[in-house]
Amino acid sequence: MKVVYADNNATTKVAPEVLEEMLPFFSNYYGNPSSMHLFGGQVAKNIDNARQKVAALIGAEPEEIVFTSCGTESDNTAILGILRANPRKKHIVISRVEHPAVYNLCTYLAQNGYHVTELGVDKNGMLNPDELSDAVREDTAVVSIMYANNETGVIFPIEKIAGIVKQKGSVLHTDAVQAVGKIPLNLSQSSIDLLTISGHKLHAPKGVGALYIRKGTSISPFIIGGHQEKNRRGGTENVPSIIGLGKACELAKKCMGEEQTRVKQLRDRLEREIVEKAPDAIINGYKSPRLPNTTNISFEFVEGEAILLLLNEKGICASSGSACTSGSLEPSHVLRAMGVPFTAVHGSVRLSLCRYNTSEDVDYIVEHLPPIVRRLRQISPYNRDSKFQGQVSASHHC
Ligand code: PLP
Repeated sequence: MKVVYADNNATTKVAPEVLEEMLPFFSNYYGNPSSMHLFGGQVAKNIDNARQKVAALIGAEPEEIVFTSCGTESDNTAILGILRANPRKKHIVISRVEHPAVYNLCTYLAQNGYHVTELGVDKNGMLNPDELSDAVREDTAVVSIMYANNETGVIFPIEKIAGIVKQKGSVLHTDAVQAVGKIPLNLSQSSIDLLTISGHKLHAPKGVGALYIRKGTSISPFIIGGHQEKNRRGGTENVPSIIGLGKACELAKKCMGEEQTRVKQLRDRLEREIVEKAPDAIINGYKSPRLPNTTNISFEFVEGEAILLLLNEKGICASSGSACTSGSLEPSHVLRAMGVPFTAVHGSVRLSLCRYNTSEDVDYIVEHLPPIVRRLRQISPYNRDSKFQGQVSASHHC
C-alpha cells in the first residue's frame, strides 16, 4: 500500500546522510569522549565538530550548545536550571499553548510553591506582547514562550518578546523544537537566553537534543553527575546520536531555502485544495505567520479521530489536534485557547510535511481526505442538520 507520511511535527525520518555519518560511532569509534587516550580523544573531536554544526544552524557559539537527551530534557533543564540558580524568584511566565514539556512542568511547579502566569492567545493563535510586558514582575525568574506552535505552526514574535523580557530584567527561554531547521534563526542578533532543540524533529534520531545557553547566563545543571558538557549536563554522551544531530543541522542549513519555497508551496496547495473540496473547513492560525510545513484544519461536525483512522486505511499518516487518541476526551488545549468552536475543535487534523514529501503526496491526500470528511459528515450526530445536535453538544464539557 502507498504510504504518505504527513506527520513530521510528531517525528521525522532519519536522513540517509545522517545515518551514514552515525554508523562508524557504533563500531569503530566507540571510545568514551572523556577518556584521556587517543581513542577517546578522537571521539571528543567529533563531538566538538557536531557542536559547531548545531551552533552554525542557529547563529550561536559552539560553547553555548549543551547536548541533552531530547527536547523535553532541554525544556526541563532550562526552566529548572534557571529556577535553581535564582532561588528567591518564584514567578514564571508561559503561554497557554506551550507543549506539555513546558506546560506540565509549570503545572507541577505551580503545585510546588511557584506562581505561574499563563498568557492567552487570540483566535489566530497569536500572543499579545503588551500582555507579556504587564505579566513580567521583579520576582519573575524565567519567561518560557515557544518559538513556533507544534499543533498550528503559528510563529510567535519571539524577538519582540525577547526585547521586552530583557528590558524587564528577566530571562527568556524559548522552546524552538518546531522552528529549528524549518525557519532561519540567528541567535547572535537576538536577546534569547536559552533555546531548546530536539533531534528527531529535524531528521536526526530520537533520543538526542540540545540546549542553547547564552554565554553569561547563570544556570544550575538539571542532571547532576560527571563533568561532561562543561559541568552543565552529567552523563556519558550519546555519541552516535550527537554526531547525527550535527549532520542533520548541517543538512538543514543547506535545505532551509527548499523548506521556505517548495515545501511551503506544497503545504499551501494542500490547504487550498482541501478547503475547496471540503466545505466548513477552517484552517487554524491561517492569519498568523506560520511554519512553512504545517497545516491544522478543523472539519466542522466530524471527529478528528475518525478522520485519522480512515486516512490511516489509505496509508496517510497525520495526527489529530486533540488528545483524544491518548484515551482522554479533552480536546486540544491549543485550539481551546484559540477559541475554536466546539463543533470544530474535535474535528481537527494536523498535516505536517518535510523535504521528502512530493507533489504526488499532496495529490494523494487531496484525493482521499475530502471524501472521508463528506462520508463522516453524513453520518455525524454533530451535523448541524441533525436533530441530535443540541443534545450531543450539551453532553460535552469544553
Ligand atoms: N516542544 C515541542 C514544541 C514539541 O513539539 C516537542 C515534541 O513534540 C517537544 C517539545 C518534546 O521534544 P522531545 O520529543 O524531543 O522530548
